[in-house]
Amino acid sequence: MVAKSPLYPEDQLRRRAMGWAITLKVNPDQVQIRRLPGKWGSCAPDGIVTFADDLAGEAEAFQDWVIVHELLHLRYRDHGKRFKALMTALVPDWRELEKQSRHSADREPERRDG
Ligand SMILES: [Zn+2]
Repeated sequence: MVAKSPLYPEDQLRRRAMGWAITLKVNPDQVQIRRLPGKWGSCAPDGIVTFADDLAGEAEAFQDWVIVHELLHLRYRDHGKRFKALMTALVPDWRELEKQSRHSADREPERRDG
């Protein structure tokens, strides 16, 4: 095959996350895509952000919600007022997406602090 290969969905997801990182002015140490049973994403204290590989197959609005959620944890560790205010500014229908997540897959973006 000499044809230029299209980006794998996982690469697209990583690109999308990097784009959001610029928008949010955060600098994740690493963005990983891997199998992540039970959650869509996680953010480690050392700045490594991980997204579930099957998130790549979800709708873009849903991806944005998970990406923004995890990247915002680089600025705010909890889901406090500031976190939610920014969330609303960036992904206005995040509450709807959060519900969707629970209904369709019974999992939250991450479970660190419930
Ligand atoms: Zn969280």
